[in-house]
Amino acid sequence: MNKLFFLFSVAFLGSLSALAQENNKQKTTSNTITKPKLVVGIVVDQMRWDYLFRYADRYTKDGFNRLLQEGFSCDNAMIPYTPTVTAAGHTCIYTGSVPAIHGIVGNDWYDKQTKSKMYCSQDNNDTIQSVGTSSKNGKQSPHNMLVTTIGDEIRLASNFTSKVIGIALKDRGSILPAGHSATAAYWYDITNGKWISSTYYAKSLPAWVNNFNALHVVDSFYKKGWNTLYPISTYNQSTTDVKPYESTPFGAEQKGFPYQLQQFVDKNYQPIAVTPFGNSMTLAMAKSAIENEKLGNGLATDMLCVSLSSTDYVGHNFGPNSIEAEDTYLRLDKELADFLQYLDKKIGKGAYTLFLSADHGAAHVPGFMAENKLPNGIFSENELKKELNSLLFSKFNVDKLITHVMNYQVYLNHELIDSIHADEKGINEIVIQYLLNSNYVSQAFLLTNLSTTTLNSKMKDMIANGYFPMRSGDIQFVLKPGYIDGGKTGTTHGVWSPYDAHIPMLYFGWGIKHGHSNREVYMTDIAPTITSLLHVQMPSGCVGKVVEEALK
Ligand SMILES: [Zn+2]
Repeated sequence: MNKLFFLFSVAFLGSLSALAQENNKQKTTSNTITKPKLVVGIVVDQMRWDYLFRYADRYTKDGFNRLLQEGFSCDNAMIPYTPTVTAAGHTCIYTGSVPAIHGIVGNDWYDKQTKSKMYCSQDNNDTIQSVGTSSKNGKQSPHNMLVTTIGDEIRLASNFTSKVIGIALKDRGSILPAGHSATAAYWYDITNGKWISSTYYAKSLPAWVNNFNALHVVDSFYKKGWNTLYPISTYNQSTTDVKPYESTPFGAEQKGFPYQLQQFVDKNYQPIAVTPFGNSMTLAMAKSAIENEKLGNGLATDMLCVSLSSTDYVGHNFGPNSIEAEDTYLRLDKELADFLQYLDKKIGKGAYTLFLSADHGAAHVPGFMAENKLPNGIFSENELKKELNSLLFSKFNVDKLITHVMNYQVYLNHELIDSIHADEKGINEIVIQYLLNSNYVSQAFLLTNLSTTTLNSKMKDMIANGYFPMRSGDIQFVLKPGYIDGGKTGTTHGVWSPYDAHIPMLYFGWGIKHGHSNREVYMTDIAPTITSLLHVQMPSGCVGKVVEEALK
């Protein structure tokens, strides 16, 4: 055989086998789905990782347990930045990025460029107006978020034929996940009890949203009130019902179950958020969106971003060890089971990919910790600001040298300092020394000195990932574990500690293996895992890594 003939034969056989492979591929394509019809992201606001297991004996087999039994659970998923708050969490999950890059450094921050306080999804542009309400609560958009989301990349990859919709009681839980090019985002307006939006997405609400609003779902829940799902004596994961360190969100006279909500009918649309029924209403709205927008019916993969905010409100008011929290999760589990069954029927079992995570966890209520001899304490950012300003006044005879204390950072009044030629270095030193002397602080330093500060490397990374110079403060302080920014009742979150930073991360459905892993993974890994599964580009600020072990 001469050399040329050999090469020709190899090339010919090669092209024959390529042809055969192509035929095979076409066969597989027609027989199996090559991409999911729908991606569903569920963020359970303030869900600590341990809730997956803590209440498991009374979870149904079809809710959280189904995700664990059939899906993939990353049991050591951590938030890689501070502050661990809602806006930063939702943004991180859907962008695979951190505040230092995506710019959402908190729910609120002081913007050094515009010299004004900014809410994460606030949009001051005149062209952006509320839709579906006369209040200002719809004047919002994702413009403060500097990077793309999973949904944006799905839209780009499908030449904008995919539909991407965000739904949450909280505006920021809907707007930031859905992204810049979202088809729509809806959130709940406490001034009129309706689901609203912004002209950023459309000039008016679609008919189905108006129809949903006309059902007055809120009032029907108010009429029923909130009692425990099971006899109250069986809630053995929680402290007894009435405690002085629990808040009273339904009125000072209502201490403990059963909670009457009837008095709020037609009057006050806010309290539903502090009951498990805020989640019920959100999931009903999510189903309505799937139904009416025909999500999962197109040629391209659609995406639904659902955030369940009520768990956060219940958690803040009553804390992780309350019957209210236990009852909220037992009810959520049932609703999740129902939602998964709905998706099986509507989209098809195995035809959708779902992930479930949380934007942050929460600390136990300090009063409860004190009762059990565990480390705890409170401080107040507002009080701290007053204390610092009066201390600086006593030294410099100038008031308001501190503009804000937010997100565990102190913002100096740079214009004032410059205009009076005050000694900025001296001010920094006084503030840092005051913080270090406070009983609740373990470390305090100038953020520009982060790299030279002696600090545990995990905290250092998390603080660096949360630092965006034009939106962050000047001086960072780290709380001792167990300390919160709060008062005598309730709790909060926001710090580096595992109770705030350890979150559930579950994958389920199309393309997902069954299993679990204890490998340390990060909130930033969700977005690249989902986009790699879909064969679309990672979001533009993504720094995460694919959780390979979860993928088939
Ligand atoms: Zn919260």
